Amino acid sequence: MSVTENITSVLNELGNTKLICVTKTVGTERINEAIKAGATIIGENRVQEFEEKADGLLPCEKHMIGHLQTNKVKKAVEYFDVIQSVDSLKVAQEIDKRAEAIDKIQEIFLQVNIGNEPQKHGFKLEELRPEINEIALLKNVRVTGMMCIPPYVSPEQARSYFKEMKALFDEIKIETQEKFDNVDLKELSMGMSGDYRVAIEEGATMVRIGSAIFGDRKY
Ligand SMILES: *Cc1c(COP(=O)(O)O)cnc(C)c1O
Repeated sequence: MSVTENITSVLNELGNTKLICVTKTVGTERINEAIKAGATIIGENRVQEFEEKADGLLPCEKHMIGHLQTNKVKKAVEYFDVIQSVDSLKVAQEIDKRAEAIDKIQEIFLQVNIGNEPQKHGFKLEELRPEINEIALLKNVRVTGMMCIPPYVSPEQARSYFKEMKALFDEIKIETQEKFDNVDLKELSMGMSGDYRVAIEEGATMVRIGSAIFGDRKY
């Protein structure tokens, strides 16, 4: 199957759920093929890799989905429409500072470590509420969603994590709605090539799909 055929069938299947076309390790030409076939948002996980490929990309919305080191924040704020992978207060503060310097309001999602895995990035469940209170004070960020990567298990086993994430998202959405001007939770980004169908059933508004579009990645 070609990239064009894969995009067409994924988009048909998704309906109203938004597709983040994950383009890490994929070259500019094939990314453009995906955009021509109807992908409107791309997801990259390394600032430098994106930078090398950005020239010649067709117009599209750009989302950062990989862990962000503080020293990469300046460029990330220049390049990306949404940073989905904000996983600490420190990174959020740095984004705020860099966004202020270029007079931008940076849209961000909070990445949640839904499986409480020690090796994984993301806010721990118990950290989330106190940290949001701090992030809400930042003037140049706007929190519009949450993102998670569940533990590496089968799609059916992932279902309980997606369910838990959706419940948490709904609770925090209600808690923050009236309270903060710059927190407006709309998007729940969860589900990848192997488990996006389950994620959609459990309430994802956005799925991040790479290999089901471009084939297996070769590193
Ligand atoms: C690579 C990646 C994806 C896509 O993974 P596939 O299994 O290829 O669909 C989604 N989200 C993040 C954060 C990724 O790094």
